[in-house]
Amino acid sequence: MHREFDSITEVIIQQLLGLRYTRYMDFHQNIPLKNYLTMRLGGVAKYMTEAHSPDELAAACRSAKQQNIPFFLLGGGSNVIAKDEGYPGLVVLNKVKGFDVIEDTPSYAVIRIGGGENWDEVVARTVEMNLSGIEAMSGIPGSAGAAPVQNVGAYGQEIADTLIQLEAYDSEADSFVVLQNEQCGFSYRSSIFRESATGRYAIYSIALKLYKSAPQPPFYDALQRYFDEVGVTIFTPKVVRDAVLAIRHDKLPDPQERPNTGSFFKNAIIEDWQLEELRKQWPDMPAYDLGNHNFKVPTGWLIEQAGMKNQVISGMRIHDKNCLVLINESAQSYADLAAAREAVIDAVRDMFRINIQQEPLEM
Ligand SMILES: Cc1cc2nc3c(=O)[nH]c(=O)nc-3n(C[C@H](O)[C@H](O)[C@H](O)COP(=O)(O)OP(=O)(O)OC[C@H]3O[C@@H](n4cnc5c(N)ncnc54)[C@H](O)[C@@H]3O)c2cc1C
Repeated sequence: MHREFDSITEVIIQQLLGLRYTRYMDFHQNIPLKNYLTMRLGGVAKYMTEAHSPDELAAACRSAKQQNIPFFLLGGGSNVIAKDEGYPGLVVLNKVKGFDVIEDTPSYAVIRIGGGENWDEVVARTVEMNLSGIEAMSGIPGSAGAAPVQNVGAYGQEIADTLIQLEAYDSEADSFVVLQNEQCGFSYRSSIFRESATGRYAIYSIALKLYKSAPQPPFYDALQRYFDEVGVTIFTPKVVRDAVLAIRHDKLPDPQERPNTGSFFKNAIIEDWQLEELRKQWPDMPAYDLGNHNFKVPTGWLIEQAGMKNQVISGMRIHDKNCLVLINESAQSYADLAAAREAVIDAVRDMFRINIQQEPLEM
């Protein structure tokens, strides 16, 4: 990569000097996005830079605004897809690091983590410290700063359960803010960061409250089945992490070898009357009660019933071990991915009259 982008660079330098900050930020032009996204598709980003501190994050976002171009904060690129025409603005790679115990009591610890830290390395460190709270979220790719965006979760834990607060640059107010858990609007695979406040906040730290007590049953079904199979009866954060990594290894393709974004579809949320109707025809339809007359139906089951398992459409394979996952085997473009996506959505709608939703965000 080489240095161009002179006008924005100048603005940035002025701003950083104003902040009494001296590191030179490199800006690069026409960078292929597929090298930064685990689906390995998409055109070029017009501009790209790395931010290594909250001040740099703010300076990059501010400069893009001043130049009237959009900006997009990117972590590990494991939950984003890009169009073939690429991104017409500035992609800011979050590289803000940090891992500090900020409160330590006999029963819990609070840890402040830089948004640019690798999520799974964070989980591994907390497990080594014998702390419980995020061990079931082992093996999720991506950055710590992105974890609140879709309220990441797996095997019965989600970040909304442990996150106390986060720090972010608010690009609308042009200021640094602290948001408490209840201000993040967490729900199933969602938050304000991917709904009402999309693109507004650049999260540079999260603070998690993790417990010193051992993880307790009941565990998520798949996890409990694994424990039963291997005969585990004493539970520690490490035992849970090892089990989750083993299960995931079997069910989820490694994006380094087989490009994918994990679950490409969200599980379907339907109302009780719909479930009642559908079960007249499919009595075995699995569903989990979410309260308020809502039920979660595993979309992988719907896709499999619709006959799409292991099919390849425009170079995208519907994973045989987990139909929620689309693997890019030989897709040439976003258009190929879109064709596969529409085929799956249509098949499920035709069979069940349920509209399934895409999980990854689009740049
Ligand atoms: C094999 C595989 C398995 C997966 N398993 C799971 C799973 O079990 N559970 C689960 O919930 N997800 C899972 N995912 C999805 C993904 O890993 C998570 O959503 C993860 O949190 C994305 O992190 P990232 O850094 O890659 O985010 P990116 O893909 O870079 O970004 C995702 C979104 O967050 C925004 N964003 C990123 N960083 C920040 C920030 N610091 N501040 C504000 N906005 C930001 C981006 O603008 C974008 O809109 C999986 C993905 C893969 C490939």
